[in-house]
Amino acid sequence: MSHTGQCDDVQLVTREEWNARPPVHTTPLRLPVNMTFIHHSAGSRCYTLQQCSGIIRAIQNYHMDANGWDDIGYSFLVGEDGRVYEGRGWSTLPAHSPRYNFISHGICIMGNFMKVAPLSDALKAVEAWIQCGLDKRHIISGYELFGHRDGRCTDCPGDVLYGIIQTWPHYSHRHIPVICKGRDLGYSLCIIALSYFFSINFC
Ligand SMILES: [Zn+2]
Repeated sequence: MSHTGQCDDVQLVTREEWNARPPVHTTPLRLPVNMTFIHHSAGSRCYTLQQCSGIIRAIQNYHMDANGWDDIGYSFLVGEDGRVYEGRGWSTLPAHSPRYNFISHGICIMGNFMKVAPLSDALKAVEAWIQCGLDKRHIISGYELFGHRDGRCTDCPGDVLYGIIQTWPHYSHRHIPVICKGRDLGYSLCIIALSYFFSINFC
């Protein structure tokens, strides 16, 4: 299957179609970006429009109600049904990888890919959607692709998925700063205090 670079190759599910809650607030993302980050949800896999839509609504609720974010964090999500689901979209500042949000999109494949690979339909959808972003000039042609763990202390996007994206042509082996603690001072102090009292190294 070759990617012709046509956005029409991919079946996009809009926010209206998965019944998204409206965002509390949106901030424009300056385009084009020069990085793309790949995530996994570390949760359930999904294979149908109905399943995937339900999972995305749950992720959105978690991001908004538990994390207190303005909206679901990712730019886009991808199911093993081979569909791309609109998160914040191309042109809204995402919340998926602190320090890199201003210069990147975040694409999340739903499932936990520590021990298994996503179905090829999901991988093809990710690649085709990035190609669509290139065609729309929302992503620079020399963009760098990363896994979430390249920029954050996390297992995301899972060992197996991480191994797969490292074989993609735009994967960047360049070392970028890894953010291990929240940038929020209160959170950092809390972690430092916990580390001190319990001799735990959180990273
Ligand atoms: Zn992630």
